[in-house]
Amino acid sequence: MHTLAEWTALSEKIEFRHQAWINGEFRPAASGETFPAINPTTEELLTDLASCDTPDIDAAVKAARAAFKAGDWSRAAPAERKRILLKLADLMQEHFDEFALLDTLDMGKGIAEMTGIDVPDSIDCLRWSAECIDKIYGEIAPTKPTTLGLITRHPIGVIGAITPWNYPLMMAMWKLAPALAAGNSVVLKPSEKASLSCLRFAELAKEAGLPDGVLNVVPGFGHTAGKALALHMDVDSLAFTGSTRVAGMLMQYAGQSNLKRVWIEAGGKSPLIVFDDCGDIEAAAQGAAIAIFTNQGEVCIAGSRLYVQNGIRAQFMAALKRYAAEYKPGNPLDPDVKMGPMVDKAQLETVNRYIAGALEEGGKVELGGITESAEKGFFSQPTIITDTHADMACVREEIFGPVLAVAGFDTEEEVIAMANDCVYGLGASIWTDNLSRAHRVSREIESGMVWVNTWGEGDTTMPFGGVKGSGNGRDKSLHSLEKYTELKSVWISI
Ligand code: NAD
Repeated sequence: MHTLAEWTALSEKIEFRHQAWINGEFRPAASGETFPAINPTTEELLTDLASCDTPDIDAAVKAARAAFKAGDWSRAAPAERKRILLKLADLMQEHFDEFALLDTLDMGKGIAEMTGIDVPDSIDCLRWSAECIDKIYGEIAPTKPTTLGLITRHPIGVIGAITPWNYPLMMAMWKLAPALAAGNSVVLKPSEKASLSCLRFAELAKEAGLPDGVLNVVPGFGHTAGKALALHMDVDSLAFTGSTRVAGMLMQYAGQSNLKRVWIEAGGKSPLIVFDDCGDIEAAAQGAAIAIFTNQGEVCIAGSRLYVQNGIRAQFMAALKRYAAEYKPGNPLDPDVKMGPMVDKAQLETVNRYIAGALEEGGKVELGGITESAEKGFFSQPTIITDTHADMACVREEIFGPVLAVAGFDTEEEVIAMANDCVYGLGASIWTDNLSRAHRVSREIESGMVWVNTWGEGDTTMPFGGVKGSGNGRDKSLHSLEKYTELKSVWISI
């Protein structure tokens, strides 16, 4: 791991790709328009990005369709696709530091998180998806003996991918890796707040041997480039990660256009439940701090609602505050800094607005609070709000910042009801040493993922996704291929 001085020196040498990547080359937006990519730590300009819109999306979809029809990728042997994607993973490994820096500079995530989580996870997801693709078989159905029923999976065609800024490279990779491995062409519209790592990835894909047009990355805003992609008549399926509000718009766009399938990974308000039989209060308190303060709380699965059983509440809160204090905001290029700035000024203001609202609604700030604007950078601070009740906005709504809402409870039934009283259903974390209770509560919680005596554990082998307002699809694992392949039934008369 480099030192702060070394990362700073490396960051000064980095070159930013800033144009759209369409049909295997960089090009400016058709309009010539650009928008600034700002470093949220220094508020300095990193580069001006191509501000793409309908004509650029049209060009990218056209290139993607042509590549799909040409078949160099879509009809290549799975082993051949595997070979190229593994080469691409090797290239990512060679450019490991560069990828780590790109997202840290672009959206403020700590460099230690980039090198410990985002970059290795992204490379692993690519390798895993590549490795699995030549090991998947079709099916033969148990039809009558005079027929043969073949059930096969095929690439869908042109996939539109729309991704958020909180894990810019990793969220894109969870979609690109299985979509490309399955033989699709992809048009990716990364978040306007963090596009740099995805543009660099596209360039490396060509170096690895991906045919032109198979992967296109089109930077731009949601209401321009994103909307054009979602409404496009020649996009077969959309894979989205982002807010629940935008997810709903995408489903409408699909209805207004060609009924393309919309796979959604959306917001969350995940409960973290600590029972008084949790055994190790220190571990649970540290887990709760990690769950809400990792990545400045800009995490879809952030454990943002904490429910502590009343018997251990005082002891638990004292420990939690100790661990929370480790998240001192600072320069994210420093490997020892656990909390960088918020992605932009608007996000910082959102966080402050929720804290002010919580105070008005009777909450008590136990730690942190509203951050007056720093001289430079959009820094917030770890904030814990107690005396919360179920009707408060800070309990019901996703803040997407380092703000934890805490409430006590007495019984298991009561806390299950509290946890499920939520429009979201992404993740949940339960802390108990009682095995039966762990199973019982895991089953009752309305969410796509449950962690017992841990939070946020994950690798490419396990599906990631939610229920209710948190979405309808799963990234990672073999199940992710369900998003990117179409079933075909072939009847053969014997
Ligand atoms: P967002 O919904 O504002 O934006 C996501 C993407 O959608 C961006 O690329 C944006 O440009 C695009 N977009 C916006 N409006 C659009 C429109 N009208 N048409 C088409 N595209 C449009 O979300 P965000 O602020 O980038 O990310 C934060 C959200 O993402 C949070 O809600 C978080 O919980 C969620 N998230 C979910 C997961 C998951 O796996 N479930 C993972 C990470 C983040």
